[in-house]
Amino acid sequence: MTTSTSKLSMENLASLCKRRGFIFQSSEIYGGINGFWDYGPLGCELKRNIREAWWRDMVLNREDVVGLDCSIIMHPRIWEASGHVGGFTDPMIDCRSCKKRFRADQLFEELGIEPETGSEIEKKFKLPPGTKCPACGSLELTEPRAFNLMFKTYVGPVADESSVAYLRPETAQGIFAQFSNVMSVSRQKVPFGIAQVGKAFRNEINPRNYTFRSREFEQMELEFFVKPGTDQQWHDYWVEERMRWYQSIGLPKESITKYVYGKEELAHYASACVDIMYAFPFGVQELEGIAARGNFDLGRHQEYSGKSMEYFDADTQEKFVPHVVEPSAGVDRIALALLCNAYREEWIPKEGPAVEAEPGKPVPEGYELRTVLRFAPRVAPVKVAVFPLLKNKPELVAKSREIFTGLRRHWNCFWDQTGAIGRRYRRQDEIGTPFCITVDFQSLTDNTVTLRERDSMQQVRISLSELTAELDRRMG
Ligand code: ATP
Repeated sequence: MTTSTSKLSMENLASLCKRRGFIFQSSEIYGGINGFWDYGPLGCELKRNIREAWWRDMVLNREDVVGLDCSIIMHPRIWEASGHVGGFTDPMIDCRSCKKRFRADQLFEELGIEPETGSEIEKKFKLPPGTKCPACGSLELTEPRAFNLMFKTYVGPVADESSVAYLRPETAQGIFAQFSNVMSVSRQKVPFGIAQVGKAFRNEINPRNYTFRSREFEQMELEFFVKPGTDQQWHDYWVEERMRWYQSIGLPKESITKYVYGKEELAHYASACVDIMYAFPFGVQELEGIAARGNFDLGRHQEYSGKSMEYFDADTQEKFVPHVVEPSAGVDRIALALLCNAYREEWIPKEGPAVEAEPGKPVPEGYELRTVLRFAPRVAPVKVAVFPLLKNKPELVAKSREIFTGLRRHWNCFWDQTGAIGRRYRRQDEIGTPFCITVDFQSLTDNTVTLRERDSMQQVRISLSELTAELDRRMG
């Protein structure tokens, strides 16, 4: 008997992601490696669509933002200047008995203990005497200590202190370090931005919630340089722009919220910070942080490198180190949010609309279970699937191949000739393909095909001469 679990469990989603080639455990054949993930054929298309949507809206469709692509390993002084060598730490507590390692804030939450106020890790996360390890029950928990999240490596053949380098924990610092070069070649005037997309690495103490907190991930960061005194107005602007953007890739308005930092939560140099949060099945969590960071970053690089980071405003004849507003988003977290939002299990009757499946209940008589990913067309890995009604009819196969080849010039398409047509629709529903085209015998005589829409499952007959324009209109 088939039962359904409509209320999304991360296990169901992870199982679909593996089965259909969105996300695999990294190094799975060797037992996996904690905190690292690989994206399969569909996952990498989903990520590419996220990146491209971001780049189009943040760079290509604007005249005041330019792109940059920095190396992952940079001069280690960059991370001294940025404060990462000294302060990019998480508080950690170990169990001497079972060797389990905890992030102190998560451990406190798990145990229902309120941390002390203040920023000193040793005081803030001092455990009350008699606290037991939640994993093994022993009294062997260590004092809290700071753990630096940067991955260390060595550059060149000699592995000593002079050759230490770091895998970047964020893409932002490359932008600050190249500020003057980009400024001088791009003929931009403040306010303007520099955008970068790329890998970042953090040796997270406790990677969890599927891909949400990984040790290797991808960021999409914009550093938007502004005149001192205009920080607040630009910060407000970017928060609203970014909230709108999440809706443009298909996240419903009610699923995304803002977390506004209180003054006491802000870093000492920041004047404002808002996180954009998504309601994941495991809780409301951050997708993106938008911070007004003053001139802290450029100021520090000016100090550490001895190179001027000043901007000369020809209109006002003023010189200043620009302030910056930083919207910083994670590709992997957005991919996960899109997957969670898209996943549905439905019961489909022979006739009429689908109903949402009831968790744990058997599929009722006369209904069929369908799993569907309701991606917005903009981010769907495959946009159109093309089928010949029957695979052993060469005329149908030839016609459908011709249509497939034509549509491929515009969108990522998929051609499938195996199995009953209903099964082919289900396979596409499960990977979130918004449109399917079926070529049948009528197509051979009047040049029309069936266009089927994923969510409503409605089918219309459409002339081939109108097909591309109609699909284009429906892609939004
Ligand atoms: P968190 O508090 O969740 O650790 P953060 O505030 O440290 O995140 P930022 O330094 O602001 O994160 O990084 C910007 C964005 O990069 C985050 O909003 C998130 O989308 C992404 N990101 C950061 N750390 C990770 C991670 N370990 N795995 C996946 N994405 C991440």
